[in-house]
Amino acid sequence: MSKKVLVIGEAREGSLRNVTFEAIAAANIVSDGGEVVGVLCGDGDLSALGQEMVYYGAEKVITVSNPELKTYTSDGYAQAVMEVINDESPEGIIMGHTAVGKDLTPKLASRLESGLISDATEVVAEGGNIVFTRPIYSGKAFEKKEITDGLVFATIRPNNIPSLERDEALTGQVTEKEVSITNIRTIIQDVIRKSSDGVDLSEAKVIVAGGRGVKSAEGFEPLNDLAEVLGGTVGASRGACDAGYCDYSLQIGQTGKVVTPDLYIACGISGAIQHLAGMSNSKVIVAINKDPEANIFNVADYGIVGDLFDVVPKLVDEIKQM
Ligand code: FAD
Repeated sequence: MSKKVLVIGEAREGSLRNVTFEAIAAANIVSDGGEVVGVLCGDGDLSALGQEMVYYGAEKVITVSNPELKTYTSDGYAQAVMEVINDESPEGIIMGHTAVGKDLTPKLASRLESGLISDATEVVAEGGNIVFTRPIYSGKAFEKKEITDGLVFATIRPNNIPSLERDEALTGQVTEKEVSITNIRTIIQDVIRKSSDGVDLSEAKVIVAGGRGVKSAEGFEPLNDLAEVLGGTVGASRGACDAGYCDYSLQIGQTGKVVTPDLYIACGISGAIQHLAGMSNSKVIVAINKDPEANIFNVADYGIVGDLFDVVPKLVDEIKQM
């Protein structure tokens, strides 16, 4: 049955996050020929970003601009999005399973007295029903979930559901809605970005991750080189973060970021279960480790038994010659 589905978009530093486009694609499946409506909150003129959501498949986009929405707060964004939900009465809501999505959607679900399927990696229409797949037991298994009654509310994991082709021929309405934002209980004093190159790990297509085997902060240099030639970014195990070789913002795993890049290269990482929880669903995994018995080889598609300080510079040289 066709539905009206709302996509909560996310912008950062003037650009939409890719997961917004992926959420629009998921919403198109959920809507089953119904209407896909986007909502985008922020400060200043958001019309160009709203238009971009149209090019990726939203039929209508409502922008809510307010100085109180310049940086994310759950109070501010929940008020703004709730007003749009009240206007539009969607039968489905989709958002990215990002830090913002993880914070905002449970709050909205509780206000709407709705269930929420979080962290979906696949959305398919099966026999007239919409079926979501999501990881359980830290990614060791997957379950299928279906909402048979009420609002279809879900967050989708970045990098899993392909976005639709951008098409400038698509037309749609971008309208601005005024919302007065009150009672924000959180004061954002400053936003400190720790990631060196600004690429968001959860959306990166290529990640070169270092573990305790890199042995020092300088030991990350060959990994930076490899990430650069591959157009990727650098991540880390908690072992490397705990040892002070890099910032915790790079940590991947159960208590760090969950990533699903096209290519994950693990260098000097043993493959502890808590690390695997954050990266084992990567599309192609390459492991470089001195220890042939290292657990990381059990999840790797390609394994290189060797010293990362020999292997990584050779890889960089080879790739540069391609
Ligand atoms: P190690 O286990 O010490 O492995 C280092 C590896 O480097 C070894 O396999 C070694 O053979 C190899 N090596 C050494 N020198 C070289 C070389 N020159 N060339 C090639 N290989 C080399 N961990 C996470 O990563 N993310 C998490 O989110 C996380 N959350 C946790 C939550 C909890 C509650 C707990 C208890 C633990 C958590 N951990 C997490 C920690 C996890 O259990 C491991 O301790 C950690 O992942 C180990 O990091 P590592 O693989 O870098 O280090």
